Amino acid sequence: RTTFTQTEKAQNYVNDVFETVKRRNPNESELHQAVKEVFDSLVPVLAKKPHYIKQGILERIAEPERMISFRVPWVDDQGQVQVNRGFRVQYNSAIGPYKGGLRFHPSVNASIIKFLGFEQIFKNSLTGQPIGGGKGGSDFDPKEKSDIEIMRFTQSFMSELSKYIGADTDIPAGDIGVGAREIGYMFGQYKKIRGGHEAGVLTGKSINSGGSLARKEATGYGTVYFVEEMLKGQGSSFTSSKVTVSGSGNVSIYAMEKAIELGAKVVACSDSSGYVYDKNGIDLSTVKRLKEVENKRISAYVDEHPSAHYFDDCSGIWSVPCDIALPCATQNELDELAAKILIANGVKAIGEGANMPTTEEAVDLFLKNKVLFAPGKAANAGGVAVSALEMAQNSARLAWTFEEVENKLKEIMKDIYSESIKAAEEYGAPGNLVVGANIAGFVKVADSMIMQGII
Ligand code: GLU
Repeated sequence: RTTFTQTEKAQNYVNDVFETVKRRNPNESELHQAVKEVFDSLVPVLAKKPHYIKQGILERIAEPERMISFRVPWVDDQGQVQVNRGFRVQYNSAIGPYKGGLRFHPSVNASIIKFLGFEQIFKNSLTGQPIGGGKGGSDFDPKEKSDIEIMRFTQSFMSELSKYIGADTDIPAGDIGVGAREIGYMFGQYKKIRGGHEAGVLTGKSINSGGSLARKEATGYGTVYFVEEMLKGQGSSFTSSKVTVSGSGNVSIYAMEKAIELGAKVVACSDSSGYVYDKNGIDLSTVKRLKEVENKRISAYVDEHPSAHYFDDCSGIWSVPCDIALPCATQNELDELAAKILIANGVKAIGEGANMPTTEEAVDLFLKNKVLFAPGKAANAGGVAVSALEMAQNSARLAWTFEEVENKLKEIMKDIYSESIKAAEEYGAPGNLVVGANIAGFVKVADSMIMQGII
């Protein structure tokens, strides 16, 4: 008769539940990837606290409370009726109402929404704010759509979504393809359907409609604060470092801004078509104008900066030598090959501004090679943390100054770092922020679920 050690029992339980997740969600590779990473980190926790196994906690956490999928019909500028698919996953409400962004991108499907919603549970828990995990979106492609098409689509999307959300139940925000404009149209439509000015039903609103100062900057700034903390632990900092930042959306722009403010030189950024390298340092005002005002591709940067070069391969950005790389574009944008090149070029730190931008193999390589690694669910939590601060301001019917919000954000990022480091240390993986963030995020959610009964 074989007797199993606590660790073996925990590992067997993790394997069993992971098989169940794969069986229940066939072919959803992004979800499998996100679940596997979290589950692997939890083996030492389950070994030490076997009541989690008896409570079936992993199987409960892996299964969303609710997954909503709906039809979004709209009329394009040619008068043609188009149909997209909308989603909202209400993953876990143990510690607060569902909270998480909406992504409009042609790649959106059930797997993408579920992986993002699953990550959101632990990220939101790490912020220390009372918010549960959710996510939504559509396979609608906002690229090259007219303003009025965007409005028609978002209104149709909200006509259905409005049935499931509310300031105390589920509070969406932006993500890829959804910014202040889209949130504005959705907020207007929600008011029309439900009546009353329920400010706290969406976050990322414009300042005049009850948005929070520093929300736009929060994800990018927060990522840099987090990485700065991580560097500090090694006696290093952003000052005089060379940085590459993928993407040129909201997260990327404000990560660049804060890195530059801290004395770094950002030499490259990108969009989904290609990347720009500027040995003199990226001129952020140009990027901001091109992306935030003119809606142009990043390739237009070189027209104004002859010292810069454009390459029409976005993943090529990882071949640019740097001290710190901040993937701020999308999932799985940094793979094993890119990791090898970054390591060969002497990279010291990686900070994930996007959600799961680094593949599993690439993360392993960084950790093995002692590259400092800040996982997204910790490093990019600043966005949703300030969303929670926006909700707090909306409930209190007041508005804090930029400085007040930014200081709170800074404190939150520092706390996430120290809690993650502490959890990693406690469970035998000192310095491993992937493991530490997963454990610290998980324990709070698991304990509240158990306190609330079999939910
Ligand atoms: N989409 C962001 C994220 O991935 C922000 C979500 C929010 O503010 O609710 O965390």
